[in-house]
Amino acid sequence: MARRLASGTLVLATHNPGKVREVAALIEPFRLQVRSAGELGLDEPVEDGADFIANAEIKARAAAAASGLPALADDSGLAVAALGGAPGVYSARWAGEPRDFARAMERVHAELAASGSDDDRARFVCALALCWPDGHCETVEGEVRGRLTWPPRGRNGFGYDPMFIAEGESLTFGEMEPDAKHAISHRADAFRKLVARCLGPG
Ligand code: IMP
Repeated sequence: MARRLASGTLVLATHNPGKVREVAALIEPFRLQVRSAGELGLDEPVEDGADFIANAEIKARAAAAASGLPALADDSGLAVAALGGAPGVYSARWAGEPRDFARAMERVHAELAASGSDDDRARFVCALALCWPDGHCETVEGEVRGRLTWPPRGRNGFGYDPMFIAEGESLTFGEMEPDAKHAISHRADAFRKLVARCLGPG
């Protein structure tokens, strides 16, 4: 049986104000008070997990232990079939410092060309971990399957959106209206699973 969170305070284990807003809106219907890790002055742990679930768990576990409250964290990225799932957990890091996603998309395109494969399948993945101060964690993973296109198209969204076309769509995520993307995204899929499994009285 999955553990549920029906009321009380939930810490969002992210320092990214955009993510805090997005997640706060998604869990608004539930009777939870939301605090961010930034607001509580919590440190950001090193994300050295081997997959999305492991990284989400590292972040949620650290925030729950430091705050004494249940904490929710996410980790997401692009997995390209012909590249063995890369960039995967390195999706943000492929953009370098400062972040430049035009460069990250060029790298995906170049590595795909170098692989000699004509397999253009890719998926966005979003892992969510909800951890309690006693160390118990519930995790879910959402995805949206699609294919890559080149050159990138569209100015909406962020990251790798302009080179990704979801299954059944003709526009890239970068061309779609934000609401249309959010309805089918890996984050929406992961949240639906988290809500069914862990949020509310059940
Ligand atoms: P995180 O903040 O460690 O989860 O970084 C995830 C990285 O994956 C982002 O910096 C983006 O590069 C990529 N990514 C995750 N979700 C999306 C999305 O919805 N569209 C485009 N890129 C995404």
